[in-house]
Amino acid sequence: MTKFIFITGGVLSGLGKGIVAASTGMLLKRCGYSVTLVKIDPYLNVDAGTMNPYAHGEVFVTEDGGETDMDIGHYERFLGHNLSKKNNITSGQIYLSVVTKERRGDYLGQCVQVIPHVVDEIKNRVREIARDQSADIAIVEIGGTVGDIEGLPFLEAARQMRVEEGDENTLYIHVALAPVLPSGELKTKPVQHSVQELRRIGIIPDAIVVRSSKWLDEEARYKIALYGNVPLRAVFSNPDVANPYRVTLILYEQGFSDYILERLGLEKRKPDLADWADFVNKLENPIKTVKVGMIGKYTKIKDSYVSIIEALRHASAWNRVKVDLVWIEATSIENSSEYLKLLERINGAVILPGFGVRGAEGKIKAIQYLRERGIPVLGICFGMQLMIVEFARNVIGLQGANSTEIDPNTRHPVIDLLPGQRGVREIGGTLRLGALKVIIRPGSLAWRIYGLSEVYERHRHRYSVNPKYIDVLEENGMTISGFSEEGFAEIVELKNTEQFYLGLQFHPEFKSRPLNPSPIFTYFIQYIAEKTE
Ligand code: GLN
Repeated sequence: MTKFIFITGGVLSGLGKGIVAASTGMLLKRCGYSVTLVKIDPYLNVDAGTMNPYAHGEVFVTEDGGETDMDIGHYERFLGHNLSKKNNITSGQIYLSVVTKERRGDYLGQCVQVIPHVVDEIKNRVREIARDQSADIAIVEIGGTVGDIEGLPFLEAARQMRVEEGDENTLYIHVALAPVLPSGELKTKPVQHSVQELRRIGIIPDAIVVRSSKWLDEEARYKIALYGNVPLRAVFSNPDVANPYRVTLILYEQGFSDYILERLGLEKRKPDLADWADFVNKLENPIKTVKVGMIGKYTKIKDSYVSIIEALRHASAWNRVKVDLVWIEATSIENSSEYLKLLERINGAVILPGFGVRGAEGKIKAIQYLRERGIPVLGICFGMQLMIVEFARNVIGLQGANSTEIDPNTRHPVIDLLPGQRGVREIGGTLRLGALKVIIRPGSLAWRIYGLSEVYERHRHRYSVNPKYIDVLEENGMTISGFSEEGFAEIVELKNTEQFYLGLQFHPEFKSRPLNPSPIFTYFIQYIAEKTE
């Protein structure tokens, strides 16, 4: 019998509810229970793939090719195992399914409504995931903030599940903000109000996690317990920390997992957190510092690249190196080459993934600058494609070389649509997605990094190196050191050089985990650190 934990948010979005959900999952998994985590997003997009990262942060890609909310990435990193695209439910999916059933006649004779049909669909989905993934405990994070109109059917489903599954089999955890005034005083009233809002819907939380810039004192905890209607030991502090992986330890030390297990009638067990604590300590005690340039076009919203930031963090811990990120906006370089001077101060750069024309020429200029000076470059997806464009123009001399994504009429389409993409009309879910085999050339830099001749990495792209140009690229000093099974270029590097210059068509960041970091990022940081004083 599965136990269900629902996690709601109050006062503000962006409180790190996903990190709390992920930490809950990780602690319970380490207590020996089989755990799955589900993210609910109340928007009408069927998945996150059609959204600009400005709107909703990074699009995370699962092994099975789902384009999901970035919280699924947090869940995988904390749990240490893969989740499915099914673990991200959106209103778009729910409505699509209900309307499809209506057209098929499944509800023939009935008036199809939010209650019961939409809410039933939500409950069925959640139960189906728990069953298919054999979960002892399914943790369901409801995106958004309590009080949002679009979140109501999901909260109603969570409420109904307590009636249907029973008190001992359901648990509600509310995560809310207690702001601290400039005077230093911590205010609990917003937390109280958000609990009231939740109660109005019929949900009484079993535990309250209070996000704040500081720890709760006894008085604040007492107030929240009393007015939030939870036992004092069910109020947990979630103070600001620079390192999200520490949140798990902070919650554990307050008896978080013990309380949950007790409340769910499960045997209390002590999780072994030694390796996690070791990772957290390594991350917080670096021996040296390197500066890594992050060259992209969504640099104002750091959530756009969260998996890359995390992968660098994992690499930084295992190398005992502090990685200072230097954000460089590609569009600024486009407008003024003055910005290239920023690159003088960095020890290596990541050319970030992306789509579309804006910022592309800025990235190309940056790549040229870095390549000519031998500064280590790691290009991911669009970043790799632009490495090819730059090389074609400036080394081979193919004037006007470009990706057809940027210039459909280019004389030298060195990057072009994948053959399977021609004639694809629907944008949603139609890129080349998910984990696919990459065959690595023995003796190459990629081969030395992975120590394997075959790896599976996750993809999300429509364009790729044009096979017609592979010979000319190789004749002029590039090596295609990784290929897909169909023969598409997956990895590019420079021939006969010690220079770190690596372009990847895939996204190694999606598989990087604290305790199982991506070899690519680990090697990249190690290489830079060795070259830095
Ligand atoms: N826009 C490029 C493509 O579709 C790269 C995508 C990416 O960087 N994820 O192939």
